Amino acid sequence: TPTPTILVVEDESSIASFVALYLKNAGYQVRTVSSGAEAMSVAATDAPALIVLDLMLPDIDGIEVCKRIRQESDVPILMLTARDEDVDKIIGLEVGADDYLTKPFNPRELVARIRSILRRAAPERRERESETIRHGDLLVDAGRREVRVGESEVQLAPKEFDLLWELLDHRGLVLTRDQLLERVWGYTFTGDTRTVDVHVRQLRRKLGDASPIVTVWGVGYKVAPARESQTDAATT
Ligand code: CA
Repeated sequence: TPTPTILVVEDESSIASFVALYLKNAGYQVRTVSSGAEAMSVAATDAPALIVLDLMLPDIDGIEVCKRIRQESDVPILMLTARDEDVDKIIGLEVGADDYLTKPFNPRELVARIRSILRRAAPERRERESETIRHGDLLVDAGRREVRVGESEVQLAPKEFDLLWELLDHRGLVLTRDQLLERVWGYTFTGDTRTVDVHVRQLRRKLGDASPIVTVWGVGYKVAPARESQTDAATT
């Protein structure tokens, strides 16, 4: 599966570049445009997987852009608005946005919403068979169940692999030990959460400095933002 492209429509360049940065770090390709006219043209020609659409644009307002795109396509649209009172209209049938966020928003929340919308829109994207996640020097291939740090492969036990994948797949979010137990081990009750700690310890030992896992004291675990790696620097 190719990396999904998110189209970001926002005329304030500081917000556009900050959103683009977070989405790129979350593994998406990003295209940014700064007007409603460009948004409609790129939506038609580039088939983005999702559109982040600001309501206040210099030419055509975001609501009108959303309506017009809706006439042509079912692409998921997440709207950004500065005013709470617009919200009912935005997600109503007339405009047809899939979700919205009110400015100022937490970029992690934006990424979490986008993941969730894309999952609902295309369940087949959840299939791991063709998915890989790159995070700094770490490359995780779900189809082959291989983990590499730079050039060298790291052997993980099946649950270690699943735990690493689950955390990477929710980059930016904190997962509690109970959530991890449920998702990785399939427990639907509060189980022995030390199991999670033991596996995290093994992952840290095996991955060394490439381990992205951070302990969030009293809550659970999350993945730290990727450091600029030598590999990335060489390819960009
Ligand atoms: Ca704007």
